[in-house]
Amino acid sequence: MIYLDNNATTQVAPEVFEAMQPYLTTQYGNPSSAHRFGRTMRAAVERARSQVAELIGARAPDEIAFTSCGSESDNWAIGGFLEANPNKRHIITTRVEHEAVRNLCIHLEEIGCEVSWLEVDQNGELDLDDLRTALRRETGIVSVMMANNETGVMFPISEIGKIIREHSDALFHVDGVQAVGKVPINLKELPVDLFALSGHKFHAPKGVGALYIRQGVNLPPFIIGGGQESGRRAGTEAVANIVALGQACELARTFDGHAQIRSLRARLEDEILAKIPNARLNGTRDREKRLPNTTNISFEYIEGENIVLMLDEAGICVSTGSACSSDSHEASPVLRAMNIPYTTARGSIRFSLSRYTTAENIDQTISVLSGIIAKLVEMSPFEKELQAAADSLR
Ligand code: PLP
Repeated sequence: MIYLDNNATTQVAPEVFEAMQPYLTTQYGNPSSAHRFGRTMRAAVERARSQVAELIGARAPDEIAFTSCGSESDNWAIGGFLEANPNKRHIITTRVEHEAVRNLCIHLEEIGCEVSWLEVDQNGELDLDDLRTALRRETGIVSVMMANNETGVMFPISEIGKIIREHSDALFHVDGVQAVGKVPINLKELPVDLFALSGHKFHAPKGVGALYIRQGVNLPPFIIGGGQESGRRAGTEAVANIVALGQACELARTFDGHAQIRSLRARLEDEILAKIPNARLNGTRDREKRLPNTTNISFEYIEGENIVLMLDEAGICVSTGSACSSDSHEASPVLRAMNIPYTTARGSIRFSLSRYTTAENIDQTISVLSGIIAKLVEMSPFEKELQAAADSLR
C-alpha cells in the first residue's frame, strides 16, 4: 500500500507505540491515586505535558490541557470563551475552516451569535483588510486555522494576531491541527491565546489532542466532574494516549527529514502538472505558503471520487480533500470558497505525504495516476474540453 492521505490521519510511529505500550498493559494505575503506582502515572502525564509544551513553544507546561481530539480542542476554545463571556457574541472566522470550527460557528449563528466569515481568494489566501474591517470593539473571539487541511495553504498567524491585538480586545484561537509536526511553531512569539492540536495527525494514535490556553486566559471546563487537568477537563486521563502524544511531540521536535518531504511533494506536484494536461493546482503556487507535505490538484471534467477508487484499486490511498458528498454532488466548501469552477473542484485530489513516504512511492503514484487519468478522460463526456487542455500543453 502507498499511503498519501496523511492529512486524514497518520501511522502511529513505532517509537510512539513502544512508549505507550506499558500504559496499556502493566502500568494501568490512575494518575489521581495517591499510591506510588498512581504517582508514576501522574509523572508520565506531566512529562508528556512538557513535551507538548516544548514542541509548540508554550511558556509553561500548565498552558497545555489534554483533550480527546482536535475537534474537542476547537469546540472547547470557542464554546468555552462564549460561555465565560456571554455578552461578547461576535465571532470572526474564515470560510475555509475545518468542520470542527465551521460547523460549530454555523451552529452558534443559529443560536444567536453573530459570525463574520472572512473570504479567501483563488489562491486560498485571506485579505487582511477584511479582518481589519470585521473587527469591532465587541468582537469576542477570532478563530483562524494555521494551515488548511485540504490545500495546505498557511495563514499568516503572526500578522493576523497583531491586527487583532491592535484593533480589539478579542481572543485569538488558532486551529493548529494540520500544522503541528509539519512546520515550526513557537507560541511564545505569536499573539495567540488558544491553540488546538490533535495527536493522530502526527503519528500518535487517534483519541488524544490538546488545547494550549495562554497563561491568564480563563476558560471554563469543557467537561465538568473531577479535578483532572487542574479542574479544566474532568475524566480520568487516557494515560497511554497522552504518553503517546508526548512521544510524538518529541519525535516531531527532533525530526530532520522535512526537506525530504518537501522535495518529494515538489516532485509529485511538478510531474503531475507537467504530464497530465487537465491537472490544475489548488492553492497558492508559492510553496513557502503551503504545508510542505500537501498538494491538492484538480483533474478537470473528471470525478475525484472515481480517481480515488481507481487509485485505491492500485493500492494507493489519497482523498478528494474533504467531505465532498457524493449524495449532494457538491464540491468541497473550501474549494468553493476559493471560487474554483465546479467542473474543476469536483475533480480535486489531495495528496498528503509523511516521514514514511519514499521516492518510490511518489514515482509509482505518478505513473499509475497518469494511466488512470488517461482512462477517465476517454470515458468523460467532456472530450472536446479535455482535448483543448491537452493541446494547450503541446
Ligand atoms: N482541524 C483541522 C484543520 C483538521 O484537519 C482536523 C482533522 O482533520 C480537525 C481540526 C479535527 O481533528 P480531530 O480529527 O482530531 O478531531
